[in-house]
Formats: sequence, structure tokens, C-alpha cells
Amino acid sequence: MKYPILLVLLFTFSVASSQVTVQRDPQIEQMLNEVSADSLRSYIYKLVSFGTRNTLSTQTDPSRGIGAARNWVLGRFNEFSKASGGRLSAMIDTTFLQPDGKRVTHPLILGNVVATLKGTDPNDNRIFLISGHLDNMRSSPTDSLGDAPGANDDGSGTVAVMECARIMSKYSFPATIIFVAVSGEEQGLLGAAFMSEKAKKGNWNIEAVLNNDIMGSNNSNETGIIDNTKVRVFSEGLPAFETEKSASNIRTLGLENDGKARQLARYVKEIGERYVDNLQVMLIYRNDRFLRGGDHTPYVQRGFAAVRITEMNENYTRQHQDIRTENGIAYGDLPEHIDFEYLRKNTCMNLANLASLAKAPGMPDSVKMEVRRLSNSTSLSWQAPRMGKVKGYYVLIRETTSAFWQRKIFTTETTIRLPLSKDNYFFAVQSVNESGNESLPVVPVPGR
Ligand SMILES: [Zn+2]
Repeated sequence: MKYPILLVLLFTFSVASSQVTVQRDPQIEQMLNEVSADSLRSYIYKLVSFGTRNTLSTQTDPSRGIGAARNWVLGRFNEFSKASGGRLSAMIDTTFLQPDGKRVTHPLILGNVVATLKGTDPNDNRIFLISGHLDNMRSSPTDSLGDAPGANDDGSGTVAVMECARIMSKYSFPATIIFVAVSGEEQGLLGAAFMSEKAKKGNWNIEAVLNNDIMGSNNSNETGIIDNTKVRVFSEGLPAFETEKSASNIRTLGLENDGKARQLARYVKEIGERYVDNLQVMLIYRNDRFLRGGDHTPYVQRGFAAVRITEMNENYTRQHQDIRTENGIAYGDLPEHIDFEYLRKNTCMNLANLASLAKAPGMPDSVKMEVRRLSNSTSLSWQAPRMGKVKGYYVLIRETTSAFWQRKIFTTETTIRLPLSKDNYFFAVQSVNESGNESLPVVPVPGR
């Protein structure tokens, strides 16, 4: 009795679906060809020329301090806007800070430099956000006077944001992309907290945040490793947002490794490695490094999918250090320590992901797994996304112990029955368009 059923299932499986050979979108490849190590280099040297970009530093000096630096970034965004026919709009988004007895020592205006490339589809309210922090610090976070070059922390992330804006503003995307250089990171993630709170209150539909912080140096100060072929992506597993509400579901279904940030991280790896040669994207399954924080966290805490992108090996003699030589060791975050080819690849990795996300259709809607009865197969159903044009869908499959998706099956239908027990695998569904750009995956909820 069992054989005929199995045969039917296998038949359904092979006819309704096919294994996928994913291809690069030529338009994204074209954008990536425009990412320039020279452009990144010139931006970093310019940022360093402001002496310090400490959030507490002067805002009135025309050539030194955070004020001059943010005006320069705004000026660059406005230049890109001109080149794009005015489609990119830029501003300094400000908020007033009072002394907090910790890292904010006097009342001041905090300003994030924000450039928005509005999506071309009026029905598409999705936003994809790339962030780096413009501010920096010396050995003391409240030293606003001495030189703090901050070439890598976080000149590298800031210039990656700028280079993506320069190139992407010449192209159009159905969804909106926001490029932001925040301030106040070293004072306690203040700029990102301000921006993410604004997004939450305004119900912005932010589907992904790529936070770039420290990603231009290729070596470790202790182990002697030099390697510019790997970059790390940090992501939280158990969602920090409303953990109590979702905990029971996560425990029952075993979804502790399938939160929003984790799904985004897997996406970033797949797309990064699809488009950027000689770069391995290493997923780190924790929110951030020990003793450190980053601007993705305020977003994560407010329920947005956000990850941190950081170089593989860190050199701590060049982060948060006064420039000096001690016991023969040269300290300081200087531009001569940046590997601009490595920074170019990491910028490409960001650009490929932003472009892929913003070109892709929306995520499939109402993704469900049928659980009416005990069965050794899996039936999934979903609805077309509310935004964008789909060619079809990818069904992603992995064993419960696997860190990454192992199979990707294409179908043009909105239901699929797989001869695999739902007890033994994890599943998700992505929308995909003609050019092969996928949405983020959606994990099915049990339904009837
Ligand atoms: Zn940093």
C-alpha cells in the first residue's frame, strides 16, 4: 500500500519543481564594476583630514571636527544627487542631546547624514538601509580635541556607504534605499538609536539593515594572520524584540536559528559570494563581538532585521587608540593601514546585497505549512507578494542541524508538496523575478 503513495509523491516532486542554477544579474555586475578602490581611498583620506570626528568635537570649525565632516559627506551626497538627476535626496537629520553623565559631556546637536534613493514603484514601501558611523574616538571617548583619524573605525564603513550611494543613485530600483552615516556611535549607539526609533514610530517598512563597522584592515595584531579573502557577518538568533511573545513558538518549532537577522545573514552570504570573487562571507551566529557593540543593535531591539559586517581579523593596536609609539608598536587608526582592495570587495558585497534586495519582488505572503494530519511529506502554500513582479518562487530546504540552506527548488506554483517529512527539515520560501533577484526568505507558520 505504501509504494504507490511514495511514487506519486516523488512524481509530484520532480515535475512541479526543479533544482536551480542561480545566475548573476548583469545590471548588478555592471554596478559592481564601478566600485573603485581609488574612490574609497580618496574618501578615507578626506575623512581623516578633519583631524577628529568625535561626536563631542567642534561643529563650527569649517575644516576640523564632526561638523565639518558631516557637511562634507552631505556635500558628496548632494553631488551624487545632481549626477542622478535629483533622485537621491540628502539631509542632516538632527536631534538634541543632553549630558548623560557618561559619554555625552555637554549639550549638543547630533546629526546623521541621510541620503534616500526613493523607489520607483509607488506601491512598494520597502526600505533597505546601509549604515556606517562617521564619528570616531581616541583612547578616551570624551577626548574631543586630539587627533583621531578613524580611518578604519569607521571611515571604512562610512566610505562604503558613500560609494554605494554614488553608484546606486545612477540606477533605479522599485524599493527605497537609505544610505546613512550616523554620529554618536562611540557615545553609545546614539545616532542609530535616534534613527531606528524614528523608523519604528513612523512604521517604516525596513526589511534589512546592513551595518558596516570596521572592515578595511586585513590583519590581526596578535596572530600575524594577513588575509583579505574573508569578511564576517554577525547576526542574532533569538530575537531581542518581544522575545517573550515569540519564545514559545520558537521552542515548539525549533526555530532558535531562524530569526529575521539570521535569515538576512544567510541571504547576505549567498548573494555576497555569488557576486564577489575571492571573498568568503563568514557567518557568526551571535549579535556582536565580546566587549563591543554596534549600530545594528538598536534596530534589532526594535524588531528590524539587522546584521553587522566586520573584517575577519581585527588589529586592536589601531582601534580607539591615541596615535603614538610604545614599546616599538605604532598605535593609531591611520589610513596607511587600510587594504583598499579588501575594502573594495567588502563594499561590493554590500552593494550586491542592497541591489539584489531592492530589485527583488516582495517576500511571499501568508507562507504556511499544512499540519492537519500526521504525514511523511511536507505541503507548503503561499500567496504572491504584494509588491513587485515574480517569475516564481524558491523553496529552501535544510536539515535541522545544518547552518545553511542546502537545497533551492524553483517553482512557478504557489503550493508545493515535497516527499520530505516536515519533522526532519526546515523550509522557507522566497520570491524571485526574471533577473534572478530573490526576496528574503519567509519561514512557514503551521496552518490548516
Ligand atoms: Zn566602530
